[in-house]
Amino acid sequence: MQNHSQRLDLEEALSRLIAKIKSITKTEIIGLAECGGRILSEDIRAPISLPPFRSSAMDGYSIKREAYLKNPQQEFEVIGSSYAGKPFSGSMGVDQCVRIFTGAVLPDDADMVMLQERAEILPESRVKFSENFENEDHIREVGNDIEKGTYVAKSKQKLTPYLLASLASLGLTQVPVFERPVVSIFSTGDELKDPEDDKSGLRLGEIYDANRPALQALFRDLPIDLIDLGILPDDKEEIRSSMLKAAQKSDLLVTSGGVSVGEADHMVDIISEMGKLDFWRLNLKPGKPLAFGSINNTPIIGLPGNPVSTIVTALLLLRPVLTHLCGSVPSPPIRLKASLDGELSHQIGRAEYMRAHFTLKNKEIWVSSNQDQSSNRLSSFLDSNCLIEIPKGEGNVSAGSTVDIIPLNFI
Ligand code: AMP
Ligand code: MG
Repeated sequence: MQNHSQRLDLEEALSRLIAKIKSITKTEIIGLAECGGRILSEDIRAPISLPPFRSSAMDGYSIKREAYLKNPQQEFEVIGSSYAGKPFSGSMGVDQCVRIFTGAVLPDDADMVMLQERAEILPESRVKFSENFENEDHIREVGNDIEKGTYVAKSKQKLTPYLLASLASLGLTQVPVFERPVVSIFSTGDELKDPEDDKSGLRLGEIYDANRPALQALFRDLPIDLIDLGILPDDKEEIRSSMLKAAQKSDLLVTSGGVSVGEADHMVDIISEMGKLDFWRLNLKPGKPLAFGSINNTPIIGLPGNPVSTIVTALLLLRPVLTHLCGSVPSPPIRLKASLDGELSHQIGRAEYMRAHFTLKNKEIWVSSNQDQSSNRLSSFLDSNCLIEIPKGEGNVSAGSTVDIIPLNFI
């Protein structure tokens, strides 16, 4: 029997989620123009070599090296030009050369490009070169960038603009990718209001829903179909029937709110009654309550309702889970070392992620935490550009100490 009140550290919670949520397996073939950000579903080998022909790396004159080495004073006759896209088609004798430009095909008989800076132009289409010979031939051999048949990309890799450029230059027009998983999001709470649904303003006790817009914006870059299913009241029956409907058409359900132990917090009960509840507490600040389970085999993650907790758990936990769901492999966010401007109080026992601002002073990173870190204060995020990570085993942190920070745009 699993102990549902146990508290899980972030890493443990994440590895459990990843073990229990299946990555999408359905694939499709799409055009290169629409594939940015999608996840490759097969390894890709280069169908051609790049460059596909021997070409010049510089502007200059293509010659036979041996002829020049024999007599560096030799005058060469310029018998034609090879431009990028317009090759020279004749053949070249030992005392002849071909004017050549970057990216142009190297004439068959040439084995070196003399830089144009080293050429002395003589009358009657002749040229000679300065004598300080350098060993560099300024030739790009076939396959010098990518060799035919080698791996350019592996399955599960994200199609970044950089990878796409390589695939395009290899002449690929279509790529196999994983389909976009469908992720449905709800907010829960009787107090929540969507200003688009009702423009009459707030009544006493109501607040506007901050979480759905935040979650949508946080994951806009991921290849998922995010369906916004609106706000659900704190009503068990209504939550239950909406969840069942949503579970049928989703690969993952994400809710926020209603995961604590208050009387109006129904998510934990609903998940246990309708499906399987795996755990519901995190050893994390902010973000203590969090529910995970499944309804009709569709996994469901119930994030805490406080918008700061929702965002922090979405960044640290939901984002890697979504990356995994999309068919890719999440990597931990990069931490930087920063010197702490001011001191921080922290109780041993729970890892904490504080909203903070880092700057570069005299080539060193300094970070200062935004003052009131209460999880209801969204304003603690307003001028923040990172999270300070305080491990669970650490107590108060004194001014000037070195701390780990996670820049928000690294997540
Ligand atoms: P809960 O987890 O439902 O107890 O919510 C914790 C706190 O977060 C309460 O003060 C809620 O009013 C607030 N809250 C929950 N969901 C949202 C939301 N979507 N937008 C803004 N505040 C919320
Ligand atoms: Mg609530």
